[in-house]
Amino acid sequence: MRPVKCPTCKREVEWNSRSAFRPFCSERCRMIDLGAWFNEENAIPGEPASPQEAETGPDPRPRDHR
Ligand SMILES: [Zn+2]
Repeated sequence: MRPVKCPTCKREVEWNSRSAFRPFCSERCRMIDLGAWFNEENAIPGEPASPQEAETGPDPRPRDHR
């Protein structure tokens, strides 16, 4: 792991496999750098929630016992 500096905000970012926006610190900075930063200041979805939501709900499988 080595710290890199975000090209946009110059903040030090940990460069590891989990930093999806490297070398930027966040999606926001990446968007800024890409120029895709128009008037979406309030349209940025927050930190991505963990996509692997464990759906360990009950599995109401109809049992067929005859
Ligand atoms: Zn940044």
